[in-house]
Amino acid sequence: MAKQTKSTKYVYFFGGNQADGNESMKNLLGGKGANLAEMAGHPALRLPVPPGFTITTEICNYFYQHKKTYPKELQIQVTAALSKMEKLSGKVFGDPDNPMLLSVRSGARRSMPGMMETVLNIGINDKTIKGLIKHSGNERFALDAYRRLIMMYADVVMEKGSGIEPKGGKGIRKMLDEQLEAIKHSGGHKSDTELTVAELQQLIKEFKRTILKTLGKAFPDDPMQQLWGSIGAVFSSWNGKRAVEYRKIEKIPDEWGTAVNIQAMVFGNMGLDSCTGVAFTRNPGSGENKFYGEYLVNAQGEDVVAGIRTPAPINAYSKNAQSQNLETLETLMPGLYQKLHGYQKRLEKHYKDMQDIEFTIEKGKLYMLQCRVGKRNGVAAVRMAIEMQQERLIDGKTAVKRVAPNQLVELLLPMLDPKAELINPVLAKGLPAGPGGAKGRVVFTSQDAVDWAHKGEPVILVREETSPEDVDGMHKSQAILTIKGGMTSHAALVARGWGKCCIVGCGDIEIHHESKLLKTKNGTVINEGDWISLNGTKGFVYGGSLPLVDIDLDKNISYNQFMKLVNKTKTMGVRANAETPQDAAQGLKFGAEGIGLFRTEHMFYGSGSEQPLFLLRKMIVSKTTEERKSALKALFKYVKKDIKNTLQVMEGLPVTIRLLDPPLHEFVPHNAEKLKELSRELGISLGVLRRRVLSLHENNPMLGHRGVRLGISYPEITEMQVRAIFEATAEMIHAGKKAFPEIMIPVTVAVQELIHQKVIVDRVYKEVCEAKKIKKIPYLYGTMIETPRAAIKAKRMALAADFFSFGTNDLTQMSFGFSRDDIGGFLPAYLDQKILNEDPFQTIDQDGVGKLIRLGTEEGRETKPRLKVGICGEHGGDPESVKFCHRIGMNYVSCSPFRVPIARLAAAHAALEDEH
Ligand code: ADP
Ligand code: MG
Ligand code: MG
Repeated sequence: MAKQTKSTKYVYFFGGNQADGNESMKNLLGGKGANLAEMAGHPALRLPVPPGFTITTEICNYFYQHKKTYPKELQIQVTAALSKMEKLSGKVFGDPDNPMLLSVRSGARRSMPGMMETVLNIGINDKTIKGLIKHSGNERFALDAYRRLIMMYADVVMEKGSGIEPKGGKGIRKMLDEQLEAIKHSGGHKSDTELTVAELQQLIKEFKRTILKTLGKAFPDDPMQQLWGSIGAVFSSWNGKRAVEYRKIEKIPDEWGTAVNIQAMVFGNMGLDSCTGVAFTRNPGSGENKFYGEYLVNAQGEDVVAGIRTPAPINAYSKNAQSQNLETLETLMPGLYQKLHGYQKRLEKHYKDMQDIEFTIEKGKLYMLQCRVGKRNGVAAVRMAIEMQQERLIDGKTAVKRVAPNQLVELLLPMLDPKAELINPVLAKGLPAGPGGAKGRVVFTSQDAVDWAHKGEPVILVREETSPEDVDGMHKSQAILTIKGGMTSHAALVARGWGKCCIVGCGDIEIHHESKLLKTKNGTVINEGDWISLNGTKGFVYGGSLPLVDIDLDKNISYNQFMKLVNKTKTMGVRANAETPQDAAQGLKFGAEGIGLFRTEHMFYGSGSEQPLFLLRKMIVSKTTEERKSALKALFKYVKKDIKNTLQVMEGLPVTIRLLDPPLHEFVPHNAEKLKELSRELGISLGVLRRRVLSLHENNPMLGHRGVRLGISYPEITEMQVRAIFEATAEMIHAGKKAFPEIMIPVTVAVQELIHQKVIVDRVYKEVCEAKKIKKIPYLYGTMIETPRAAIKAKRMALAADFFSFGTNDLTQMSFGFSRDDIGGFLPAYLDQKILNEDPFQTIDQDGVGKLIRLGTEEGRETKPRLKVGICGEHGGDPESVKFCHRIGMNYVSCSPFRVPIARLAAAHAALEDEH
């Protein structure tokens, strides 16, 4: 919530082994600011952080509420903090003799990599540059820093920060970049670092001229003006297009605001004894407990993230296909590497989690510029969690909390079929930045990715490198492939956060934008729209669409250990929805503790359904009870076999079998051939059959003759199914096996329906017991609660039910009056305009439909305290819905087999939340 603050401390200092803030103050200082304070000031750390201060997120909100102005005390506090920094650094901001330079960085509560702005080298002008040259002894370096400041400032502050829309779409940054390229070209240089002093001087003059001409304002010479301009631009970038887009995807509230961090600059680009890098305390791609990172000699931090030069590995472990011949930091600067290694160990021990750190070495002195909890993919998250628990760095509960339920999806996602990989040539190799397999059609721009995906095309976005502007397209793609950039580049970072298949640094490929194609080193051409397939675990690119297969979870030791921990933690059961023995087996493999929904009608769809479907149709169009009974009799053996197969797989675990649910006319054939066949079989004319079919037509089948209503009008349908269930169970018991069916009556509205059907169940039960000479067949009798009335009448419904299973698809549909099959027409508008915050078919509408579920559960248990309650709608696999089910005391959730591990983890999280 954006609330007006009464506190008057807006500026939090850090540096010199001391800090006003600490790690717990992320809401106020943002993640970056809080961690800079922690690193600088915590007694267990006290790492060498260049001094600086953080302006709070409250000022961001003030800024937006007061027409982009600040409270007046802010300036006083900033000035005081600056002079503290000057004392510590021995330099003075704006001093022509020995100038202190500043960086101004954004930093929200949660990291939004690259989504907001940073301005570096603030404080250089034509006067202070003299002091910079004197103290660095390096004129080239000073001029290079100046031209970087001008470029960044013009782009971030003067253009974007002032809301100027570039004419013809060409921004100032691009114009200045072209001037830089032109000078490089005319001087015959390959890299920026080869520019001479004279060339840089000329460039700076040209830059200033272009800025004045294009933006109508001169680049400001006054360091204070540069500083305040940058602060304002960083605050403004909170509402920049890409930050807003990213927040939408990541569900970050607009009111959080960003903090601004002002810090003394240190330089990784002061020569060959300087460098800058990014590192992780463990491998963020695999989770392995090894220090992992990349660095660039003689460079500023932005060069690593932007992926312009291929970064070198910090140690042998971090080498990859592209960097294997580059010198490691460990061998280049052994002493400093050891120091960094010590710091990273301390950081991980202190934070008790994997840290992502930025460091810079300036002329042989190491500085820490940032640390934060590192993003990791699902595979790595699971491994780190379980290993840290085994190392006793964290306890079991913390380990369980470390993995988000949806991250498990990545461990369950398919990979490219290894057999297909064997026979297909690898077109190109890059760095494995996001694991798993993916295939899609090639597009070269983020916009195309969005447009194609919108049309339902699976796409793979191929870019030289990605920038924050590409986020939307990256999100919509199956996978991302970049030519440049390392394992710490923007694309890798973002893909890792999402758990998306991603390959970076694939130098074997070049993109020809004008002809919309890519060419591989061996000359293969792939056009826009062609299929490619990626193995993100290895970094291999294939042409065409390779098949995907499921991965073998049994081999993943970390996963299996982790899920044991999950099972120990959770208290609610998790079942699978399955109607074939294969699905049931899959569910078991994923840890299902039963089947929460077995739909009998499944046998009438798909392969092998010809004969049973024919018999069902015969039954449907029967006119007399005799006709119907004879059809049902023939159908019986199919139903029984189907049920028995699944009971066998589940070996005594509960299997909830729902009696026939859909409206009958859904099964009636419409093509003439099938109708003719049916009429022959029934011995009636085609005309008569057509009339019977016509009479089945309903205006509103979802609300029509379906569910228990069928069993009321045609008790013989119920009878046949119940008999199949009891006989299958009895036969298993005779064979010395266990079986536990739960008979579930669908679409009920009143207890009388349950009583009516129970008479049939009881009679058939007796008959089967006698016929099979068996004393007792274990089973439960219950109902699906999927109409609002059934929930409201729960107290009565429970009189005739051993269990309730909430059918939340129908319940949502009938509570909202939204047809699930027709929401496409209006739901997007509802979500866009925030009339609804969430699609209620994906996550339970907790204070609407959820109230019915709570009421149904509580009142049902008033009648029958031990009433078993579960849920079998699609929501059973949605983490937030699972937590809701736990909170209201359900016995289990049931979801599709592939969501079972996710539901188990969500249930464990819910159990841990209880403890607070
Ligand atoms: P992001 O949030 O995108 O990581 P940062 O605020 O970390 O952006 O800054 C961008 C780059 O500027 C980083 O590479 C960082 O290392 C560099 N940088 C920031 N502050 C300083 C500083 N005080 N001295 C040197 N480099 C800095
Ligand atoms: Mg950073
Ligand atoms: Mg239903």
